[in-house]
Amino acid sequence: MASMQEALDSLSDKSIRHIVSISGGKDSTALALYIRQSYPQIPAEYVFCDTGCELPETYEYLERLEALLGVEVQRLNALDDLKVARKPGRNPFDIYLNELYGGFLPNPRSRWCTRVLKIQPFERFVGDTHAFSYIGIRGDEDREGYQSKKPPVISERPNILPVYPFKDAEMTLEDIKRILTESGIGIPGYYRWRSRSGCYFCFYQQVGEWQNLKEVHPDLFEKAMGYERSSVGDRGYTWVDGRPLLRIAELPEREEIPAPDLAEGCAVCHL
Ligand code: SF4
Repeated sequence: MASMQEALDSLSDKSIRHIVSISGGKDSTALALYIRQSYPQIPAEYVFCDTGCELPETYEYLERLEALLGVEVQRLNALDDLKVARKPGRNPFDIYLNELYGGFLPNPRSRWCTRVLKIQPFERFVGDTHAFSYIGIRGDEDREGYQSKKPPVISERPNILPVYPFKDAEMTLEDIKRILTESGIGIPGYYRWRSRSGCYFCFYQQVGEWQNLKEVHPDLFEKAMGYERSSVGDRGYTWVDGRPLLRIAELPEREEIPAPDLAEGCAVCHL
C-alpha cells in the first residue's frame, strides 16, 4: 500500500503509471473526478473492466464521466485475454461460462467472474510496469471487511501498489456526494432501484433488486432466467440461493432493497 504523498513524490519517474479503476459505482466515479480536479499533475489512466453484462445505466454513466474528465475511460475486456475479437453481442462471460467453466454459474463462494472478467484484464493492462492503483475506499467506510487491516486491492501483484486517496484525506460519503453533485454527474441512475454497480445478473442482488430488475429491464431479467435454465450446477443453479427467478417473479409482495453502503458486495465490482 502507498500513500497519496508517495504517489505524488513518484511523479518525476515517468516509467511509473497511475491507474484509476472505475466500476461504474459512485465512489470510484467520484475518485476519478477528484484525481482529475485536485491532482491534474498526475498522468492518470482511467480504466473500466467491461464484463459485457453491465447495466445500460452504467454504460451511459461512463460516457457522461468521460465527457467530464475530458479523457477516454479505457474499456478493458476479457475477450482480449482470450484473443477473441470484440463485436456487438459477444461477451466474455458467456465464453468463460460455456467453454472454461462448463456451464457452472459463479456464486459468492465461487466467484470466478471477478477474477477472469475484472482482475485479469486489469493485470494484463498493467503488465510488468510499476503502477499505482487508485481505489475509492472512503475514510468513513464501515462495510464488513473494508475496515480490516488490509483494505481491498484490485491486484495482489507486487508491481501494482494500491493507493486510497479518500482514506488518506479522510473523505466521507458527504464529500463523495458533493463531488458528484458539483460536477453535474450526480449518482448513477440505477441507485433508484438497485444498491450496487456490476453485472445485471450479479448474484449479490437481493430479492427486491431482482424484482426491480424485472420491472426496469424485463429483457435482462429474462436473460438472467435463461442462465438458470441452462445451468449445470449440482441441482441446477439459481442466482438467489434456493429460489429460482421464476418464483421471485411471482412473489406478491415487493421486498426492500438494501442501502448502497450496507449491501454485501465485491470491492472490485461495486465501489
Ligand atoms: S458484478 Fe457480480 S457477477 Fe459481475 S463480475 Fe462482479 S461479482 Fe461477478
